[in-house]
Amino acid sequence: MATKAEKELYRKTAELGCSLCRHQGNEGTPAELHHIRRTSKRSNAPVIPLCPYHHRGSNTSIHGMGRRRFEREYAITEEQLLVQTEELLNAYS
Ligand SMILES: [Zn+2]
Ligand SMILES: [Zn+2]
Repeated sequence: MATKAEKELYRKTAELGCSLCRHQGNEGTPAELHHIRRTSKRSNAPVIPLCPYHHRGSNTSIHGMGRRRFEREYAITEEQLLVQTEELLNAYS
């Protein structure tokens, strides 16, 4: 179960809009949350906002292509998108 603080963080994260669209110069594309897998089970998976196209599209998304192909295709890593997301969250809070 997500705590109240986590739910608040998830809401703010989604409100940023798709992080990859933003990287491409289009801000504010409605986004859903993508959980980044961590090897450690102790910490909660961090989340980044991705639009359905970049999240679930068959040949355009992190789940459709797989992380490695996604990162090569868009020349940005999942971790870089997370850094960008965290910077925006810090700037707005
Ligand atoms: Zn997008
Ligand atoms: Zn996902």
